[in-house]
Amino acid sequence: MTHPLASHFEQIITGIGEDVDREGLAKTPERAAKAFEYLTEGYQQDLGTLVNGALFESDLDEMIIVRNIELYSLCEHHLLPFFGRAQVAYIPDGRVLGLSKVARIVDMYARRLQIQEQLTREIAEAVQSVTGARGVGVQIEARHMCMMMRGVSKQNSEMSTSVMLGTFRHSQSTRNEFLQLIKSG
Ligand code: ZN
Repeated sequence: MTHPLASHFEQIITGIGEDVDREGLAKTPERAAKAFEYLTEGYQQDLGTLVNGALFESDLDEMIIVRNIELYSLCEHHLLPFFGRAQVAYIPDGRVLGLSKVARIVDMYARRLQIQEQLTREIAEAVQSVTGARGVGVQIEARHMCMMMRGVSKQNSEMSTSVMLGTFRHSQSTRNEFLQLIKSG
């Protein structure tokens, strides 16, 4: 069974002047198609199914932070990878989210095409909508292959984006606590 994307990769390989029939490339269209499907599998997932009831009642009102969540994504401008770490924090309002679910939310949105700013916002809004938290803070630091490999290479540039919702937005002390916790990690 040939993957529906395989013929497109075959065209790309031919288009750059390569010979898709040579031994090393013979199975590449199929492999690349499967890899690309995996890297974009976030399109096949939705928040409700992913969280699947992993919400627990809690009277906790301190900040919960999940640090250094690895992320791998593809930029929508070049279809090239960007990768880095996300820091996700929230102040619950009666419900907390299973720990592993925070990382899975990051993965779900990372495995779609977008830009880093949008990814940061999507993660923050998802955590907010699932938990009904008083506030959410998300920060992502990532390096972009489209910056590092193309044109004027900027091999060490890292982009940092953050989105603050609710108390993280309105309270200076909450925001400072978040930024402090990120630094000490
Ligand atoms: Zn790009």
